[in-house]
Amino acid sequence: MSASADDLIRPEVLALSAYKVLSASGMIKLDAMENPYRLSAGLRDSIAEMAHDIAFNRYPDASASELKAVLRVAMRVPEHASLVLGNGSDELIQMIELALARPGATVLAPEPGFVMYRRVADYCGLNFVGVPLKPDFSLDLPAMLEAIEQARPSLVFLAYPHNPTGVLFAQAEVEAILQASPGLVVVDEAYTPFAGGATFMARLGDFPNLIVMRTLSKLGLAGLRLGFMTGAPDWMDQLEKVRLPYNISTMTQAIATRVLGSMDALENQANSIVEQRARVFDELSLRNDITVVPSHANFLMIRVPDADRLFESLKERRVLIKNLHGSHPLLDNCVRVTIGSPSENDVFLAQFVESL
Ligand SMILES: *Cc1c(COP(=O)(O)O)cnc(C)c1O
Repeated sequence: MSASADDLIRPEVLALSAYKVLSASGMIKLDAMENPYRLSAGLRDSIAEMAHDIAFNRYPDASASELKAVLRVAMRVPEHASLVLGNGSDELIQMIELALARPGATVLAPEPGFVMYRRVADYCGLNFVGVPLKPDFSLDLPAMLEAIEQARPSLVFLAYPHNPTGVLFAQAEVEAILQASPGLVVVDEAYTPFAGGATFMARLGDFPNLIVMRTLSKLGLAGLRLGFMTGAPDWMDQLEKVRLPYNISTMTQAIATRVLGSMDALENQANSIVEQRARVFDELSLRNDITVVPSHANFLMIRVPDADRLFESLKERRVLIKNLHGSHPLLDNCVRVTIGSPSENDVFLAQFVESL
């Protein structure tokens, strides 16, 4: 008789539950930090034209050299830093943790935080230390430094701005963590386009253990799946070894190269999302039965009287948001809502009030 899955699959994989994505068909989708705007018709025409000429019978350029050159310019990557590309930054997180998964090695991050840091650590066999944020969702720096001292982590993740709170940690606190860390520190800049210029990109030369991670997902290209990390060449050369050779498809390389040539269009979209964020924040802040956390990202976290009821009621009204209640003690009755287009935000605000 052949073995069952239970006999052969590693226990840490058996212990995971599948990553769930709710269906959003027919709904206003404000659950996943997507950009509400499509690419311009002109850009989509030029992509269609490009696609016509692509040699799909050939493997992609494994070094993605043209795309990397464009990324360097568009994202202001310092010349001395090297680049590794991923199929979204989720894949980069997996590459880093896979490479660091020595027996007994530890990954550390503030929590609540981005779920993939812990999830990947779990199935790579890494220890994971989650350090609670303060009740106002700022970093608890003494607790972070203490935990780093105790656990000597191979890797620290800091989302800058943070997900799911939208809080931008104090620059000096991130620096203190970079200085105190015996291992790598990944500053995950998924939400940089909405953070008013806050970035550690220009600091790569100051910290040999710093990796800056970016993604195009929140900038309007979530479906394309492209992220990159950048840091000192001796680190990037090693991490590059666990990248699968053709992880960035020909189509992704061509489209990203084309779109990044029109960065101003994406930046304009990001700026209008930031304006909408201020409007939704101001409107919600007028109420005294909820708390809205000031955000540097393209979403708002809100504490409501009954998150489960609000979530279900909005869903019935065809508005999908993220219910965070139950995912961490600090997130009691919290929900997270992505900033949409002005008309989507109108619908959200109206239905939110009805659903409270
Ligand atoms: C969305 C997100 C990512 C992952 O983005 P990809 O779509 O995989 O590029 C990474 N980090 C944070 C903090 C995120 O919110």
